[in-house]
Amino acid sequence: MTHAQAEAQAHVLAVDFAACDGHGLCAELLPELVGLDEWGYPVLRRPTVPPDLLPHARRAVAACPVMALRLNRVPTPAPDQLPTRGTAAPRRAVSHGQPG
Ligand code: SF4
Repeated sequence: MTHAQAEAQAHVLAVDFAACDGHGLCAELLPELVGLDEWGYPVLRRPTVPPDLLPHARRAVAACPVMALRLNRVPTPAPDQLPTRGTAAPRRAVSHGQPG
């Protein structure tokens, strides 16, 4: 992976709720991005991790006792590949009736 490719990736948090035990440790370590619902399970305030919070996100992932908190890398489009206003494909009409 080149340096340019590494920069073109965002870090995104995800929770494996089948594994999560609702310990709440992630919310304590990363309150900027993780809250808790009324049962103590994590609620991601926003999944994308800003670069300045990346060390804290990594620490929260490492501290999860059941490895339910994940940090995934997702590719981000280069600025010249982002859609600009008026260039998106037109929406198709959706019909729920019989054709014809
Ligand atoms: S630390 Fe892990 S097990 Fe605990 S609430 Fe967060 S994701 Fe779930």
